[in-house]
Amino acid sequence: MKSDKIVIIGAGLGGTLLAIFLARRGHEVEVYERRPDMRKYGYTGGRSINLAISTRGISALEKVGLAEKVLENAIPMRGRMIHDENGSTYLLPYSPRLDKCIYSISRQGLNSILLDAADSYPNIQIHFNQFCQSYNFRRHVAFMRGADVYDEYAVSGKVIIACDGATSAIRNSLFSMERFNYSQTFEDHGYKELTIPAGKETLFQIEPYALHIWPRKSFMLIALPNKEGTFTCTLFLAYEGEPSFATLKDYDSVRTFFQKYFPDAYELIPNLEEEFFSHPTGSLKTVKCYPWVYEGQLALLGDAAHAVVPFYGQGMNCTFEDCVALDQALEEHQDDWNKALQAYQEKRKVNADAIADMAVENFIEMRDSVTDERFLRRRKAELILEEMYPDKFSSRYNMVSFTTVPYATALARARRQEQILETYCSTLKDMQDFDPTYAITLIEEDSINRKLSIAQA
Ligand SMILES: Cc1cc2nc3c(=O)[nH]c(=O)nc-3n(C[C@H](O)[C@H](O)[C@H](O)COP(=O)(O)OP(=O)(O)OC[C@H]3O[C@@H](n4cnc5c(N)ncnc54)[C@H](O)[C@@H]3O)c2cc1C
Repeated sequence: MKSDKIVIIGAGLGGTLLAIFLARRGHEVEVYERRPDMRKYGYTGGRSINLAISTRGISALEKVGLAEKVLENAIPMRGRMIHDENGSTYLLPYSPRLDKCIYSISRQGLNSILLDAADSYPNIQIHFNQFCQSYNFRRHVAFMRGADVYDEYAVSGKVIIACDGATSAIRNSLFSMERFNYSQTFEDHGYKELTIPAGKETLFQIEPYALHIWPRKSFMLIALPNKEGTFTCTLFLAYEGEPSFATLKDYDSVRTFFQKYFPDAYELIPNLEEEFFSHPTGSLKTVKCYPWVYEGQLALLGDAAHAVVPFYGQGMNCTFEDCVALDQALEEHQDDWNKALQAYQEKRKVNADAIADMAVENFIEMRDSVTDERFLRRRKAELILEEMYPDKFSSRYNMVSFTTVPYATALARARRQEQILETYCSTLKDMQDFDPTYAITLIEEDSINRKLSIAQA
């Protein structure tokens, strides 16, 4: 077994899981994290409090024996619970038999499980309070600063892997590299986290086994359950315009806004105004860049390579898949880093781009389309087909959240299926007339025709 010294910058979700994969391969892993150890000092990051983990993330955790432990600490969510403006609710299940779920998990809880697991490997060392300032690709060193501002030093290893998140210092150091492509696109919307506390009579004040959504076309509120009975709500709202963060400038305007648009949620958030003004407004961005690897000695992984907006709940899931892909590439190329990093980049870049695009599209679906008649018809048709033809049909949501079909394949297949189903459903007076046999034939014929045209090309 080969044992190289590998430096990982960032002990977040991707950095810790990757450290475990590499340690299992026998490498010596040094991890540098700018924050204090969250297990002792709590989580001080500005990211979301809880996260949705689904099949891709779980399957990565299974590979290192951590899935069971993580799921013990998670809450299953079987569908989207839609809240209309009158406070009525209905469930849009993720699967016809309610047997498929995504899981809500605390970010700090998950990261702590990963850190504990990493600590159990003698060949992983984690250094907290160590800030990476930059990377010099000519000298192949990362410049660090310790807790003391005068404590500056450089680190290096056979390979340095940047897992330092959406604002990656390492990635920013690559801007001066010839032919390094980079784009960063901010949404017009920001987000704010609020809390529904646990109840006095019942632990959970609303249905715990669902992802709650209050869709209001140009904005929305969502809520994910936490183990201790609370819900973390996230308001996604434009920065400017009416209504927006700019117009919610005092206690009165916040109260009136919530009473008008989210009356049932308003009743459940006792500290609404205080939380609204004491919690930061987070921004949402998509980052794309290329290349992700440099001369077999540097790689970007997770949000450092591809930050995506959170509307598909896939950023971390995608990051965990990156770790699996890199591990598999190392296996295939017998830990030849040059070849393995190239293979990793080739496999993942196209898929990261696909989930980035789907995440942006899903924002529109969540805040607007879930109340749209055309969308609801198609979704009904999809659920019928998934129930009747599980081997032949898989919807976009199903492929993304409940399979490990590459994101790019899922996107291409879903776009065609959705077009076919929407066209067919639009010809029906009533969904009672929906003929699943006819619909699946249309989809299968399209797939055969496509394969033929690819073969002829
Ligand atoms: C509001 C919101 C909700 C989300 N919800 C979901 C969800 O439901 N499901 C999902 O799959 N994904 C979700 N995501 C995305 C998910 O959080 C990220 O994709 C995931 O955290 C990426 O992991 P990472 O390790 O690349 O980055 P991070 O988890 O951000 O870790 C980066 C680490 O690097 C450290 N670091 C940063 N800079 C430096 C430096 N200069 N030197 C040293 N260390 C440094 C940080 O302190 C941090 O520990 C959400 C994101 C947001 C913003």
